[in-house]
Amino acid sequence: MSDIQKYKMLIDGKRVDASGGETFESMNPFTGKTWAVMPRGTREDADRAVAAAKKAFTSGEWPKLTATQRGHLLRKLGDLVAEHAESLAATEVRDNGKLLAEMGMQLKYVPQWYYYFGGLADKIEGAVTPIDKPEHFHYTRHEPLGVVAAITPWNSPLLLAAWKLAPALAAGNTIVLKPSEFTSASSLEYAALFEKAGFPPGVINVVTGYGHEIGAALTEHPDVDKITFTGGPETGKRVYATGASQLKRVSLELGGKSPNIVFDDCDMDNAVKGAISGIFAATGQTCIAGSRLLVQESIHDEFVEKLVTMARTAKMGDPMLMDTQVGPVTTVPQYEKILSYIDIAKGEGAEVRLGGAKATRAECGNGYFVEPTVFTGVNNAMRIAQEEVFGPVLSVIPFKDEEEAIQIGNDVVYGLAAGVWTQSIRRSFIMAEKLRAGSVWVNTYRAVSYMAPFGGYKQSGVGRENGQDAILEYMQTKSVWMSYATETANPFIMR
Ligand code: NAD
Repeated sequence: MSDIQKYKMLIDGKRVDASGGETFESMNPFTGKTWAVMPRGTREDADRAVAAAKKAFTSGEWPKLTATQRGHLLRKLGDLVAEHAESLAATEVRDNGKLLAEMGMQLKYVPQWYYYFGGLADKIEGAVTPIDKPEHFHYTRHEPLGVVAAITPWNSPLLLAAWKLAPALAAGNTIVLKPSEFTSASSLEYAALFEKAGFPPGVINVVTGYGHEIGAALTEHPDVDKITFTGGPETGKRVYATGASQLKRVSLELGGKSPNIVFDDCDMDNAVKGAISGIFAATGQTCIAGSRLLVQESIHDEFVEKLVTMARTAKMGDPMLMDTQVGPVTTVPQYEKILSYIDIAKGEGAEVRLGGAKATRAECGNGYFVEPTVFTGVNNAMRIAQEEVFGPVLSVIPFKDEEEAIQIGNDVVYGLAAGVWTQSIRRSFIMAEKLRAGSVWVNTYRAVSYMAPFGGYKQSGVGRENGQDAILEYMQTKSVWMSYATETANPFIMR
């Protein structure tokens, strides 16, 4: 038990255990062994963290800072993330099973969120209105909301935390961050950087524990002004309902069943790579996975052949090795869920063209691996085409023409993302307009940026992260009226 790492939460600038002293274990999905223990935060810990965030919002140094000074702190945090990128990446690989090759890239990129929103902090301007009332002056102010509860999933903890923290802090809010119980380690290590960057105690708090315990306690807390949640659709609906009961601001980034649409006028080699990156990158554990591959009938067989040939070469194994391409599934329940969806698809009559089972390759050791899987003969009404699997499982669906591609592409409850592969400019514009998704990629897939608004249509979410839209999700607009009339008008008449 001695080499098991013990983590603490961050509340009001102090490293603390859970109030009840309880912990839970975190598993390395490659070895299948426990490597760390985390505090199992309670309702009392949620209260303490929210109280600290509320105090930091209303008194002390934070509310006195100018927007420019907040921007400096954010940029300092970005520098510190860059400095600690390697060790944070290694922690994420151990805790989450993400590839070191991907985490190295991701953590080099994460600082950009702090630089961008640090720069934006002092550029959110109110307006002077040419108001229609004589002898009145009117202006608007954009003000922070207060205490933000930020709840993140297990698949990309630090990237998704940055998507929330950077705009929320730039806007002047204070935060309680709760990462997933499956991957809490990196967020707790991250916490060390907040103090180093110079954020006053209580401005950013990090608590850990189970969703139905401390997660629910945060969303129910009357002093939480805004919930920003990324996770599964069912949890998202529960969080939304809880927020609604107190009329809190809520933004949600939820699941997807994104169509990646290949037309017969595409560059086929590029489209094959796009299809593979859409579903097998990050072991398919991404909300934007292009899990429905719509292929035009005229090239269907040739395309599937090329796709399967390339996907078959994917190297699986230890995520710490730089040449591994497909790593383990992060959690045991997720591993079981993926295997059960493979059975569901088989039962529905889909044909396995690749994989279709757990991986038993020697290089996968005792880890939780699923073979990259390609199903053909899928129709869009099947469960495998309608429900989010969140794993390396691709459903290939044929279509006749543009109209049918749009109809099938949009025929799910989700609308997070869509890909289009074509060399036609006309078709690119039409598809970008007609697909009901928050992000549409043409001849590329999985591109995201701190500059580009990201979010869901339909049941994929509410609100936007990234880009200039994101900061306003953490602010509210105040209307200020001033009169310079020498005499106050008739008090019984509305002005
Ligand atoms: P999840 O919904 O199980 O958990 C997400 C977070 O919510 C965790 O921190 C969990 O502890 C917490 N939680 C659980 N129950 C709660 C409750 N009752 N009240 C408050 N918090 C609660 O999701 P997951 O399995 O961790 O993540 C996978 C899901 O996340 C997938 O559906 C995926 O599509 C989605 N996701 C979406 C995006 C996006 O930007 N749209 C990005 C990544 C992941």
